[in-house]
Amino acid sequence: MTVLSKRVSEIAPSATLAIDTRVKELIQNGEDIINLSVGEPDTDTPMKASYMAIEGISKGFTKYTNSSGIIELRKRLSQKFKEDNNLDYDPDQIIVSVGGKHSLYNIFMTLCNPGDEVILPAPFWVSYSEQIKLADAVPVIISTDESTDFKVTPAVLESYITNKTKLLVLNSPSNPTGTAYTKEEIVALAGVLEKHDNVYVISDEIYEKLIYDGEHYSIANVSERMKERTLIVNGFSKTFGMTGWRLGYTAGAKEIIKGIANFQSHVTSNVTSVAQLAAIGALNDYDHTQKEMFRQRLEYVYGRVSQMPYLRCVKPQGAFYVFPNVEQTFGRSYKGTKIESSEDFCRLLLDHHKVGIVSGVAFGSPNNVRISYALNLTRLEEAMNRLDAFLAELE
Ligand code: PMP
Ligand code: GLU
Repeated sequence: MTVLSKRVSEIAPSATLAIDTRVKELIQNGEDIINLSVGEPDTDTPMKASYMAIEGISKGFTKYTNSSGIIELRKRLSQKFKEDNNLDYDPDQIIVSVGGKHSLYNIFMTLCNPGDEVILPAPFWVSYSEQIKLADAVPVIISTDESTDFKVTPAVLESYITNKTKLLVLNSPSNPTGTAYTKEEIVALAGVLEKHDNVYVISDEIYEKLIYDGEHYSIANVSERMKERTLIVNGFSKTFGMTGWRLGYTAGAKEIIKGIANFQSHVTSNVTSVAQLAAIGALNDYDHTQKEMFRQRLEYVYGRVSQMPYLRCVKPQGAFYVFPNVEQTFGRSYKGTKIESSEDFCRLLLDHHKVGIVSGVAFGSPNNVRISYALNLTRLEEAMNRLDAFLAELE
């Protein structure tokens, strides 16, 4: 019998962070590993962000702040929503949290009662399912595959909605597939949701700036009704490469944001004071050239992966991941060891060819692997050569 709560006993550790930790340890021990596992951009914190934080420290801006975030930052985020997304949110409809991950957890905890259902299209980012369980809600997985570009269709969504459904999680562009819904597809999904007053939407838009084919379109833009029932989650980890600062935010209806604020006020209080200053600096210092840089990486990695034997890959439209299907390697052997799962595939690749990638198991898609291409082209070329060499040795 374990001392741990049932709640914690039933969740898995974050697979993405676990593999990243392992790979970083191996690198520290001197191994020449190429880390394509974690979703962490190689871009630097914008200069203005660092300056504002340093200035904040030197001026003693190091005390508690408003638990929901300093008003200057929430005003700046309100401006961001207007300029980037054509959405009106007052500062009291926005709350700043300790990373997008924390923003999401706050929402599940604030909105879900035990037994509520949360519709989660798979493949999904690893933390959604576990956070839903932590909130005593039930993840209701809709499996998708390459045949629909990993997208949920309106008819399928409709068939999963019950009177217990509380939330739908939408993540476009998606981690791990890179799929992005078009405006027409979002409008069609909203058409289903508008018929069900009990269903709210989490729209995780953390990759909104990294969309290479088409424009990002938020479900909150569809109608005022949809906006009232949508919680937009975003953060600074991807757009500004500020993973370590832990900065995320949520925008939504006043009543819900107030509920989240009450919850957060007891759990973490404010985000680190000077990180909030850095956030303002970052918003004023966005690097518009990074999208082109990521597009080149996508073209390179997708080009290589789609030429490789055994791999089947849908072309992503956004984020910085490719998510090939590796099923055709199952049953083959590498130096006498049989590959029976995508986990075996990743382990053998790491051990013998020194490339870290993540199995699709924790993303709800066990026949795929996720390759992050948030790395410079020289390293990506070397990584693709190693992957090619690994596949060439399969028997
Ligand atoms: N949402 C998605 C889809 C992600 O990939 C991540 C990964 N970092 C997050 C949210 C959370 O990011 P963070 O907590 O670093 O803001
Ligand atoms: N979201 C990123 C990933 O999927 C960062 C790690 C994590 O928080 O899961 O790799």
